Amino acid sequence: MPAEAMTTPLTNLLEGLSVEVHPDAPLAPLTWFGVGGCCDALVRPLDLPALQETLRRCRAAGVSVRVLGSGANLLVDDAGVDGVVLRLDRGAFTAWTFDADGASGRVRAGGGADMSKLMHEAARLGWAGLEAMSGIPASVGGAIWMNAGGKFGAIGDVVDSITLVNGEGVASTVARDAIRFAYRHTELPRGIVAEACMQLRRDDASAVRDRVRDHMRYKKASQPMAEHSAGCMFRNPTLPSGERVSAGMLIDRAGWKGRREGSAHVSPTHANFICVDPGGRAADVRRLVEAIMAGVREAHGVTLQTEVAFWKRGDRAGAI
Ligand SMILES: Cc1cc2nc3c(=O)[nH]c(=O)nc-3n(C[C@H](O)[C@H](O)[C@H](O)COP(=O)(O)OP(=O)(O)OC[C@H]3O[C@@H](n4cnc5c(N)ncnc54)[C@H](O)[C@@H]3O)c2cc1C
Repeated sequence: MPAEAMTTPLTNLLEGLSVEVHPDAPLAPLTWFGVGGCCDALVRPLDLPALQETLRRCRAAGVSVRVLGSGANLLVDDAGVDGVVLRLDRGAFTAWTFDADGASGRVRAGGGADMSKLMHEAARLGWAGLEAMSGIPASVGGAIWMNAGGKFGAIGDVVDSITLVNGEGVASTVARDAIRFAYRHTELPRGIVAEACMQLRRDDASAVRDRVRDHMRYKKASQPMAEHSAGCMFRNPTLPSGERVSAGMLIDRAGWKGRREGSAHVSPTHANFICVDPGGRAADVRRLVEAIMAGVREAHGVTLQTEVAFWKRGDRAGAI
């Protein structure tokens, strides 16, 4: 359905709710790639009941819903995406609280809270456990959904429980034991991470800050942090021998480092990063992804899988 035809009914659909509705909202400024088109409506719920009722009404009306975090692991098609894109960047969704006694190291954070700010606050207070998130742009919900991390650990290491809201708007608490954290993936029923509880541990504040700084230094030296990318484009594949190998190394050895397709190029710093020129096109990224996959298949007999989510109209990928 064309965007013009969708926007009025979507605004009506959500009437009376504590939500901000932005029809035909451009998504490029909300993603790290900085490319892609509009969604039919960007919806910002102000509280949990509004989020739940939005999901209920959209489900009943057959409107597809996606959730956007910091947009650091996402490519939006140039023609945009249909339906509602939810963003938890208002009210309690962006906040966190440390346990009132200040001694337990438990922190409760909204799904839209900025992971980097939370990590720095924890470091300042002398709570360790989030340093692995240094240099990883993410919302709390997006980090948990992807089990973000790397060489120094992953967010799954500290998650204690989450509040998950499903496509029907039903919220439930999922305890750590019921969640399987895997390599850049968390096994959860499809839904929205509205809140998370994390268990940190006491450490010397300056030691925590030093680790944050060291990890950041490592990232800056090995990755193009200042460019428009979505981090690693491909998952590190597991070979038939069971060994997990670096996708960047395979891409580099296949001769793709530095190569370009229109506005997109393979970073000369890290071959698993695809960077886009300002004002570039998602179509160029897609073409480059396909060319790299073909090149790596030909050179190494390995089929790469993308790690970055791709949203486009008429496609249910990413919908709740
Ligand atoms: C410069 C750079 C460096 C990076 N380095 C790393 C790295 O070292 N390690 C690493 O793991 N990643 C890295 N990334 C990728 C990215 O930071 C992570 O994948 C991060 O977890 C994405 O979080 P987000 O909030 O931006 O999610 P988005 O990109 O907004 O969304 C990603 C996926 O999560 C879903 N999602 C978002 N919020 C929620 C929610 N509240 N509930 C349920 N689902 C949700 C979305 O629907 C989508 O499917 C890097 C990215 C960049 C740009």
